[in-house]
Amino acid sequence: MSDPPIKPHSSRKLTIAIDGPAGAGKSTIASRLARKLDYVNLESGAMYRALALKAIEKDISFDDEAALVKLAQGSRIQLEPVVGGNRTLLDGHDVSARIRERDVTEGASRISVHPKVREWMVARQREMGASGGVIMEGRDIGTKVFPDAELKIFLDADPVVREQRRMAQQKIRREVAADVAAELRQRDQRDRTRAASPLVAAPDAVVIDSTALTEDEVLAQVEELARQKLSQN
Ligand code: C5P
Repeated sequence: MSDPPIKPHSSRKLTIAIDGPAGAGKSTIASRLARKLDYVNLESGAMYRALALKAIEKDISFDDEAALVKLAQGSRIQLEPVVGGNRTLLDGHDVSARIRERDVTEGASRISVHPKVREWMVARQREMGASGGVIMEGRDIGTKVFPDAELKIFLDADPVVREQRRMAQQKIRREVAADVAAELRQRDQRDRTRAASPLVAAPDAVVIDSTALTEDEVLAQVEELARQKLSQN
């Protein structure tokens, strides 16, 4: 699908934060909007996933905050924007496919509860987005990573719809569908209830419920909001 670029009214580049639970459509919207605006799209979740993968490889417990921080400090996690998302490099190796597997997904959710792991991630994410012209998606982008972002979107959807979308997206086999859905609910719960940077809409975020909307309809709404911000310059 080709999304023609938006002609901005000014050369000013925005920072756009897109937060929300899994399966709400953040990645797709972020990547399509990035193409329209000619911005860089960064998936912050891929960084938590990459660190979780390294913890698995090094046999470090997801509960050992100090060891995880040390591991992060000795790691190189890079996000390379490509059409449709990011290529994720861990210490120079492409781990884009591996980090989507279930063990890493579970690990990313568990390591993300640790405040010091989050601190390390937030610092890297701020560096990556420092020059603006960035659409970063995650759970705490509008609240913690870029609290001054010009545009903040909180993309939500009914949990059942989110589960169905995730199943379709990842071509989950029917035999494991119930387990995967249960894991998604558990991760959501962990994100929303953790003490450090829980998943919550920033007070100045625009909340979009995508339950009954098509991807194109959500994109149109977000695009209009970006256009308004650009024209306010
Ligand atoms: O977005 P994604 O599902 O790839 O993120 C993987 C996990 O990383 C999430 O389940 C969430 O717990 C965590 N995460 C986070 N803060 C972010 C991005 C992701 O806590 N900004």
